[in-house]
Amino acid sequence: NKTITVAQIRQAAQEAFDESRNLKGGANADYIPYLANIDSNLFGLSITLLDGQVINIGDTDYKFGIESISKVPTAILAMQQHGTATVLKMIGADATGLPFNSIFAILLENDHPSTPLVNAGAITACSMITPKGDSDAKWKAIVDNITKLCGSAPQLIDELYKSESDTNFNNRAIAWLLKNYNRIYDDVPMSLDLYTRQCSLGVTTSQLSVMAATIANNGCNPLTGDKVFDPDITPKVTSLIATVGFYEHTGDWLYTSGLPAKSGVGGGVLGVLPGIMGIAAFAPPLDSAGNSVKAQAAIKSFANKLGLGIFNGN
Ligand code: GLN
Repeated sequence: NKTITVAQIRQAAQEAFDESRNLKGGANADYIPYLANIDSNLFGLSITLLDGQVINIGDTDYKFGIESISKVPTAILAMQQHGTATVLKMIGADATGLPFNSIFAILLENDHPSTPLVNAGAITACSMITPKGDSDAKWKAIVDNITKLCGSAPQLIDELYKSESDTNFNNRAIAWLLKNYNRIYDDVPMSLDLYTRQCSLGVTTSQLSVMAATIANNGCNPLTGDKVFDPDITPKVTSLIATVGFYEHTGDWLYTSGLPAKSGVGGGVLGVLPGIMGIAAFAPPLDSAGNSVKAQAAIKSFANKLGLGIFNGN
């Protein structure tokens, strides 16, 4: 209920950015060769308000690998195509407390992949996207959805796609294990390839903050006015993000920031404050769970300065 002005939001964002920019610690992801070579000093912070204003600070035009943040839009698309109840039944909505690439995400939960926001459930989500059996049309649906959520198109980073496809042995094992438990609903190599390709899309923090704001705005993109998904999906996808968005560090993150957010090993973080705003930050060096050190620091500091956590009683 407390009123925060745009000037206060701008100032808090600038302060949070300045405080975090010289933080050391963390390292670029190195298990995907392309990511190891990205400039570690890049740093951007973007905020999109629900009236369509976008605040950009730092390297907000740099296109980096969306990686696991792509799990969010594809979970939304699966819910839009099949309904939120079906996604719960076919994938699940539980925390795993495990690393993003754990095969135990499948084995823990009566052979359900736990949640669309870890690798196992995300590969299942790609298998659920319609039209079944048509790789090109499924890919188009995935990219069109991201384009509508961001209000502008993402761009495939070919070198990243090749780098991931050449090294994704763990994900290949997950995909076949899912098949073993009847949790892949389309061709296995195709579902895995769609997952790998969506992870290799390049996006900017500015675009991701619009995506976050579209989620915060019940599916209506605040820049374009486009109604991208049904309003009942916002609380469902935000609950998934809050539950598992930082993998085994999710509880610590939620406790200290109060803000549902999803990370990717490209260094991006997307934060959703339903009914208030969307936030995104990017800096390549990651902590031990694969979450950007500076992006976490900046978003946490920003949210704490303004008392924006979803658990705050104001
Ligand atoms: N493409 C990466 C993988 O599947 C994404 C992981 C991530 O961003 N946490 O390993």
